[in-house]
Amino acid sequence: MKLGIVGLPNVGKSTLFNSLTKAGAQAANYPFCTIDPNVGVVAVPDARIKTLGEMHHSKKVTPAVIEFVDIAGLVRGASKGEGLGNQFLANIRECDAIVHVVRCFEDENVIHVDGSVDPVRDIETINLELIFADLEVLERRIAKTQKSANNDKSLKKELEILKELKVLLEDGKPASAFETDDADVAAFVASLCLLTAKPVIYAANVKEDDLADDGASNPHVTAVRAYAAAHQSKVFCVSAQIEEEIAALDESEKADYLEALGISVSGLDKLIAASYELLGLISFLTTGEDETRAWTIKKGSKAPQAAGKIHTDFERGFIRAEVIGYDDFVRCGSSAAAKEKGLMRLEGKDYVVQDGDVILFRFNV
Ligand code: GDP
Repeated sequence: MKLGIVGLPNVGKSTLFNSLTKAGAQAANYPFCTIDPNVGVVAVPDARIKTLGEMHHSKKVTPAVIEFVDIAGLVRGASKGEGLGNQFLANIRECDAIVHVVRCFEDENVIHVDGSVDPVRDIETINLELIFADLEVLERRIAKTQKSANNDKSLKKELEILKELKVLLEDGKPASAFETDDADVAAFVASLCLLTAKPVIYAANVKEDDLADDGASNPHVTAVRAYAAAHQSKVFCVSAQIEEEIAALDESEKADYLEALGISVSGLDKLIAASYELLGLISFLTTGEDETRAWTIKKGSKAPQAAGKIHTDFERGFIRAEVIGYDDFVRCGSSAAAKEKGLMRLEGKDYVVQDGDVILFRFNV
């Protein structure tokens, strides 16, 4: 999964990006992997793999990962090439979801590009740039399709959809607001890779005092929550500055510090939970002497698709999945004991994988 962090300049994106990548690297003892300064790979904290790894004395415990991309440079006019413009829009296109950081903290020492703190205005500024960029894509596509549509019925249908999308965006709405029950139409819309079709999580960057009540007494946060609720998005409250401090602590100090702040989970944990929920993701687990590992899949994925996450050969040659629920596995102490108690299920290609399933795939090569 790849998440792009966007937001106006000076809202705390880099602070958040740096703290998330550092904290995620520490939480799972995952080697902090820097592909490029703006890309960080973060381990998804999951206590289950630690337990399973210890049960099996696994040589390696590998968490699921999320890739974060710090997409700076998105400013008013970016879609017209202002600032660093189009390159950044291209970076967003490659992401599965957008984490949109909005400033909800007042601090006279930190200049706001538009002179005052107003997160909904900021959200609309950025979203408008994304809409402009999508409109450009649609206009180009319409011009191209129009030429051949006269003689081709399926292109005529595509042209209709493209025009409907254009009207929607011209009305200031994101492509995610496009509704259809037709799976083919939905697939065509998805194939356009529009920026405003991507799921969005708003990160409300607040000051320390707002963390204990999760921003409930901060009117800026309330405004962001109302906006997100109307746009099928999620919000999580975070203090980028505090996250930066938390990221520098070790695990035991971290728990004490969070308690002192009156919070139970860090911003990274909240963000991961929000993205899993918004994107409909779950994790399944594999375990053995060599490696215990968590894998991320879409909710509703069937066993062969899950196997394909591990290796494409597993999907192609899928025979069956031997499945034990995580709790059963831990209670029994081993897969052999679980099997004896009748808690290991043999599942076929139509089995819908559940969160926390411990799976051994059988396949033909
Ligand atoms: P970016 O341009 O969005 O990447 O913003 P930065 O992360 O560089 O932050 C801009 C400025 O705001 C820096 O001086 C940060 O120290 C400050 N800043 C970031 N987050 C917070 C916060 O939660 N509270 C306060 N008071 N300042 C912050």
